[in-house]
Amino acid sequence: MTAELRWVPVSERMPADDQRVGLKMLEHGGQTFYTMGWYTGDRWVLPENPHSEGEAVAWVALPTFTCPHCGKQTEHPQALAFDKLMMSRASCRHCGKEFLIVDDVPMTPAEYQKRSPDPENDGN
Ligand SMILES: [Zn+2]
Repeated sequence: MTAELRWVPVSERMPADDQRVGLKMLEHGGQTFYTMGWYTGDRWVLPENPHSEGEAVAWVALPTFTCPHCGKQTEHPQALAFDKLMMSRASCRHCGKEFLIVDDVPMTPAEYQKRSPDPENDGN
């Protein structure tokens, strides 16, 4: 994962058209929230918050992880909110399978089981 998220104010520079980025949005009510989206050249597309009304104030290249199932790079927008991911569930946008991110390391559920066996299932 990227060591440091570098937020770019939209007033300074826009992302490339259709580049998937993390967004810091300012709602009309004054709340900020984080989401994922891209700019089409005349408007923002926010697939996870399609009905939200707001203004993008800054963007950042999305944190990406290597999918342990198919080996392709996939974004994990939830990582935007954290410096480091202790434990998170992600799904790959290429193969659609879920995987875990533990201490910033992506792994399949089976790999995780191997690494730290469930104490409730220790063979009794
Ligand atoms: Zn995958």
